[in-house]
Amino acid sequence: MAITPLMPVYPRCGVRPVRGEGCYLIGEQGERYLDFAAGIAVNALGHGHPHLVQAIADQAATLMHVSNLYGSPQGEALAQRIIGNCFADTVFFTNSGVEAIECAIKTARRYHHVNGNPERHKLITFQNAFHGRSLGAISATDQAKMRDGFEPLLPGFAYAPFNDLDAALALIDGETAGFLVETVQGEGGMTAGTPEFIRGLRQACDDHGLLLILDEIQCGYGRTGRFFAYEHYGITPDIMTVAKGIGAGFPLGACLATEEAAKGMVAGTHGSTYGGNPLAMAAGQAVLDVMLEVGFFERVAQKGERLRSAFEQLIPNHDHLFEEIRGKGLMLGIKMKEPAVSRDFVAHLRDNHGLLTVAAGENVFRVLPPLVIEDEHIDECIEKLSAGARSF
Ligand code: PLP
Repeated sequence: MAITPLMPVYPRCGVRPVRGEGCYLIGEQGERYLDFAAGIAVNALGHGHPHLVQAIADQAATLMHVSNLYGSPQGEALAQRIIGNCFADTVFFTNSGVEAIECAIKTARRYHHVNGNPERHKLITFQNAFHGRSLGAISATDQAKMRDGFEPLLPGFAYAPFNDLDAALALIDGETAGFLVETVQGEGGMTAGTPEFIRGLRQACDDHGLLLILDEIQCGYGRTGRFFAYEHYGITPDIMTVAKGIGAGFPLGACLATEEAAKGMVAGTHGSTYGGNPLAMAAGQAVLDVMLEVGFFERVAQKGERLRSAFEQLIPNHDHLFEEIRGKGLMLGIKMKEPAVSRDFVAHLRDNHGLLTVAAGENVFRVLPPLVIEDEHIDECIEKLSAGARSF
């Protein structure tokens, strides 16, 4: 069989988008889709947001890229603005989520190394987690389908069931560096960490001198109705990864850390040619211009409530199909009753009703709309979903 021009690692469907307009994607033949997938939680401002487009165009014409060998007024400005709105003291900018994960793993290992405890290299991670596709990230992920054929993997990970605090604590030993956990699991099934679980991990870190690394690549940057999901829990992490919404379509990610947690990351320990280049920083600033406007996150929370209550009304009419609602804010999923149908349901909504959603593990379909949706988009989503449920 002939190789395709794109390495065939994705099971691509027939939708071939060529344009985006707000909350809609338009295909090659002019077909329109209501985009409640948003590039898997990336297009937080929808498609073609004028402020983001203008900022990227202006910066591209001014200065697109310089080496990290030079000073970065653009990087310092964006880092300062992020730091001013969260727990962190310092930022490493990346081009993707998984690079932020790599930086977080390295930061945690170096922390214990410079503290004189190099044996503390092991991270406790969680079942059904997703942290990306690098060798480090798949080593951190207890999922055979992602690891098969890529061994030997990076040593130094132990896995506990998500939301099982006792199991996680039981894994702590003299080699443990900390925990790496999604505050709200996305890919794994849209399961929010329980308050007892997330707070318990924080407490264990404080008690044992470990680091709490939160992966907020999917659930951070406004998605749950707060700037970061950890704000729902009344705790702060030591290290946190973000991506997706931070650039809202521009490839950008970041590893954020407290000064203490980052103390091993000195000159020469890490790097990225493109990371934090002026074009990416301009995109990041434009996203924050919109998100840090008064009321933005409250509005996300309200829209999330509206969508959730519409789901609640929908479920009793289709209780043969739907089991329970998962997630927070505009990061919602519905677990389906019949085994292994969520992928088929996502395809049915897409091909027959023009609604884009995403399947997640554990038989869930997820909706991750742009954070700027209006009520009319929610109503349209519910109409399409009801019609799709009737005809499935
Ligand atoms: N972590 C989480 C929670 C994610 O959802 C993802 C991507 O879906 C990643 C890490 C990896 O990010 P990227 O695909 O940008 O490398």
